[in-house]
Amino acid sequence: RQLPPIVNEPIRSYAPGSPERASLQARIKAMEGERPDIAVVVHGEERRSGKAVNAVSPHKHQHVTATWHHATAQDVHDAIESGKKAYKEWSEWTWEERAAVFLKAADLLAGPWRDTINAATMLGQSKNVFQSEIDAACEMTDFFRFNVQFARELYSEQPISGPGMWNQSEYRALEGFVYAVTPFNFTAIGGNLAGAPALMGNTVLWKPAASAMLSAWYTLQLLHEAGLPKGVINFLPGDPVMISDIALKHRDLAGVHFTGSTGVFNSMWNTIGTNMSSYRSYPRIVGETGGKDFMIAHASADVQAFAVGVVRGAFEYQGQKCSACSRIYVPKSIWPEVKARITAMIDEIKVGDTNDFSNFMGAVIDQRAFDRISGYLADAKQNAKVIAGGTADGSTGWFVKPTLVETTDPKYRLMCEEIFGPIVTAYVYDDAKWEETLKLVDETSPYALTGAVFAQDRSALKQAHAALRHAAGNFYINDKCTGAVVGQQPFGGARASGTNDKAGSKLNLLRWVSARTVKETF
Ligand code: GLU
Repeated sequence: RQLPPIVNEPIRSYAPGSPERASLQARIKAMEGERPDIAVVVHGEERRSGKAVNAVSPHKHQHVTATWHHATAQDVHDAIESGKKAYKEWSEWTWEERAAVFLKAADLLAGPWRDTINAATMLGQSKNVFQSEIDAACEMTDFFRFNVQFARELYSEQPISGPGMWNQSEYRALEGFVYAVTPFNFTAIGGNLAGAPALMGNTVLWKPAASAMLSAWYTLQLLHEAGLPKGVINFLPGDPVMISDIALKHRDLAGVHFTGSTGVFNSMWNTIGTNMSSYRSYPRIVGETGGKDFMIAHASADVQAFAVGVVRGAFEYQGQKCSACSRIYVPKSIWPEVKARITAMIDEIKVGDTNDFSNFMGAVIDQRAFDRISGYLADAKQNAKVIAGGTADGSTGWFVKPTLVETTDPKYRLMCEEIFGPIVTAYVYDDAKWEETLKLVDETSPYALTGAVFAQDRSALKQAHAALRHAAGNFYINDKCTGAVVGQQPFGGARASGTNDKAGSKLNLLRWVSARTVKETF
């Protein structure tokens, strides 16, 4: 059967004066006053017996955007039972029947739900309109559509047969449930971590991030409107420690689909290791974790392209992408010019409420993030040189200025640790030490998520390509290290950055099925 054409959802520009801008602004305004009472959802039933908490807008932290309820231990147990019940039918649906739910969800998202999901992401996670559009609207739509295409390819892969013999691969859903733990920084990742295993016939316990509750809630509503049956994805906001303790120790845990910090992923893996003998099957563990993403310029680099790449890679969405550029390596010969251009752009950047479409940056996600990032700023003032930015103001929203730091110590804290905020640290190297510097880039951090090299000299590119073979799962040549597009740059990293099962790829979907080989002789 033919699928509808699968192409990337076009990005809308929301140009000043356009009807699409007016429509989105009206939706944001309305949503500011709606304050939904977000529930735990078990088998389609909304439950509100657990502790209620307010969600606020990061750029206006006195503004309550929603109330949400913690799942109780009973809710978690019931969700596991609900998933079991739903599994019986859902895993028996043909894959095309399941695909139809996600294709419809994609059409709803790209159409009537677009303003809602963008408004929720802008209001709840402080994304500017472009950052929200490429995430909540386009990337989530792309995940749903491309996963259907990848699933079709996967299901059609069959072994060789011969005369008197027919061999078949049956791609069964995993036996048990998948536990999806999703981050605040991409609405689309929430949809994909829960959606991909569900597309392959699994049922899912979804634990959304507390600080992205509004957009996660609307994502769930949207999937239900698209026809997702009750219990296929049960929604469990709440205490990650309590929920994980029940989910990860359960005999029917069949998989974990995670995006978040390396520390949390490690502790989940440890819990699973400790309980290994109690599971029915070996759980599939898929995680995308931290990063300390780099951009290195060669002396032959196009200075303007590099400077723009750094500014966009480091400061878009306030540096809160796992892929964000966080350390740069620049040769002495071009540093004065690179520094001048980055500084000039930083001076132009407007930081503020993302409801004002002219702001390039919003606020960082919450007080904890604000305090952590402020700590790094203080360190930079003492132990390095702050070239531009360097201030933060948490009085009305969690605002941090885009900041450029320079250090002479390539192993300085800010060159090694993940910050998850709008700070980029530069190390200036001797032009003659290009090869040593490549080695340094590779050895400085335990992570290997994204990285970029800028050069016009082909042999330099070739050297970087080879020397940094394991330093990044997504490697960019003459482009910034963020902004992977589904179907174009499958995304994920190795080393301490995760299991590298590329989000939005056949490889990822393969983790959510268990094949049965059937041989029949005639
Ligand atoms: N896929 C995103 C990018 O390429 C990053 C996702 C993340 O932060 O986890 O920028």
